[in-house]
Amino acid sequence: MSPSKFVVFFAIFASSAFAKKTYEGYQVWSVFVASEAEAHSLEELASSFDFWTGIRVGRDVDIFVSPERISSLRSKLEAAGLEKAARVVVKNARTELLEREAERLKRHVERQGGFFETYHDYDEIQQFLDETVANYSTAELETIGQTFLGRDMRLLKICENGVCGNNPTMFIQCNIHAREWITSGACLFMINELTANLAANPGMNSGLDWYILTPANPDGYVFTWTDERFWRMTRQPHIEGVGICVGVDPNRNFGAGFGGVGTSTDPCSLVNHGPEAFSEFNTRNIRDFVLNHNEIVYYQDLHAYGLMAMYPYGYTPTDCADKTYLQDLCDEAHVALNAVHNMTYECGSIYDVVYPAAGVACDWAYEGAGIVTSFTFESRPASAAEGGFAPPASEILPNAQEIWAWHKVVAERLKMSPP
Ligand SMILES: [Zn+2]
Repeated sequence: MSPSKFVVFFAIFASSAFAKKTYEGYQVWSVFVASEAEAHSLEELASSFDFWTGIRVGRDVDIFVSPERISSLRSKLEAAGLEKAARVVVKNARTELLEREAERLKRHVERQGGFFETYHDYDEIQQFLDETVANYSTAELETIGQTFLGRDMRLLKICENGVCGNNPTMFIQCNIHAREWITSGACLFMINELTANLAANPGMNSGLDWYILTPANPDGYVFTWTDERFWRMTRQPHIEGVGICVGVDPNRNFGAGFGGVGTSTDPCSLVNHGPEAFSEFNTRNIRDFVLNHNEIVYYQDLHAYGLMAMYPYGYTPTDCADKTYLQDLCDEAHVALNAVHNMTYECGSIYDVVYPAAGVACDWAYEGAGIVTSFTFESRPASAAEGGFAPPASEILPNAQEIWAWHKVVAERLKMSPP
């Protein structure tokens, strides 16, 4: 590393010692997309603003904007003729999202509520994993590698009779996008259902094993608790191309269609794919583990938000070879999901349902690791108005329950007739 690069690295790390970001005056704008032409104009903004949802004709797209950039966003929307389609759904993220979230966390501690009624930081998650392994002989922990900042990525394995590798195995990862806290709640809930609450889930750990990883982006996750609640990326700096910024979008960093649609080479973009596929420690660790475990027959990369259940592809509009099977499976499992709290998800390919996105984990698992049954969810909440990436903690449990119901159907199907 040259001396000048060292100075830049030092400056980047020193900056993380600043106070926690308050998000005072940050807003979420929703823009209704009425035509392909409007979608195209918005796509041009997607690498320079923080788009919380995908751009789709006939839907709202949510855009997170700092106070300094509100006038820039407004003038860009005006230039595209979209000012009338736009409305502010969160006027101040500090008061409308974060203070409410903090208040709920505080109330939870005061009345000592249930584990799944609040969010948990990295250390609490590790403690939960340790306690699970201590209490259940079917559970074991494997460290699949370290992150850029040296944190362990600990995979919780729940295997029939405590022996892993013999059964078809479900692999589920949560929180690869750091700010999507509600997803970790779902992963931890599933661990609990498969251990403490196994009696209520007969057959779920016979002839079938489970590998559950959360958070799948530990450095980013810790940063969302200490510094910036709405951080999305990894924490690995890259000095490449047109700028210098910390972090890569880990769900654009996998080796399927890498560098294609819906990604950016700009290191400061929120969809920056990184200098090369698997440039990030966490994506490399996941890749190496999955490729070394042929027993994995199911892959789930769990995200928030928007209520979508998706399968490959994201990087191309071409149908994947197993589209009919995946769509049927999704629809069948959705009946069970819907029956829990009457929530409705949309099933379809990533490209069709959310947005074109290249280098995503779900496509890589399917294409690169040969796991036919590969899904990715955008879970609760439905919209930014319902909390976006900081939904009420009261959403954690119902979200987890309905996702678990979906997975039970898929698990039964995979046990009986793996594709
Ligand atoms: Zn995500």
